[in-house]
Amino acid sequence: MEFTYKWYGSFLHLLKENKYEDCNYIDWKGKKKAVILRHDIDVSPASALEFSKIENYYGMTSTYFVLLDTDFYNPASRRQRCILKEIYNAGHQIGLHFDETSYGMGEDFIAAIKREVKILSDILELPISSVSMHRPSSHTLEANYKIPGIVNSYGTVFFHEFKYLSDSRRYWREDVDSIIKQQQYPLLHILTHPFWYNETEKDITDSVKTFIYDKKWDNYHLWEENTRDFIEILKPEEMDSI
Ligand SMILES: [Zn+2]
Repeated sequence: MEFTYKWYGSFLHLLKENKYEDCNYIDWKGKKKAVILRHDIDVSPASALEFSKIENYYGMTSTYFVLLDTDFYNPASRRQRCILKEIYNAGHQIGLHFDETSYGMGEDFIAAIKREVKILSDILELPISSVSMHRPSSHTLEANYKIPGIVNSYGTVFFHEFKYLSDSRRYWREDVDSIIKQQQYPLLHILTHPFWYNETEKDITDSVKTFIYDKKWDNYHLWEENTRDFIEILKPEEMDSI
């Protein structure tokens, strides 16, 4: 499998060809053959938006999970809110991506998830009804948390009744294309991280390098937007040495 937009499009086409119905974490019940497409936005909502456009093209919907507590992006900023709303308005779901390491040992994770869901829902002015875990501990993986009004995508049902496939750390542990073609599993639960996919294939190191380089310029433009005559402080050509 390639980590390109072209591959992702062919993967969506394959799912449709093999009659897997795109579902979310609620409406899969009663379906004979369904796929839940899940995306964790660990790094970049902009990459998620690109993915959602490919899904729109193929008439597929998915669920995008958003971190509230991250220094990679700010879901409350106008720019990120617009991106996340655009994804939702195209027919996808938005869920909470929950990082338990933000909390101390012995804290009530269920109360924390409920609180974060409310905050994210208020910020985006969107309904949030599902949660996924960011780098969960083995305890959280096994806990099968029940959260009133919120579907836990780490609930045992999504791993026992579904065939779970993931590209975590930019690596598919199984041949996802063959699994779809074989139609051995009526229910599929597939996690992809949009950040790893590009127009052309990039290895993991190049993907990270590009992101860090672009961030440098994002920061430059933020300074420009927020500081009068910023060019007098730092000229674009001086950025090369940073
Ligand atoms: Zn994550």
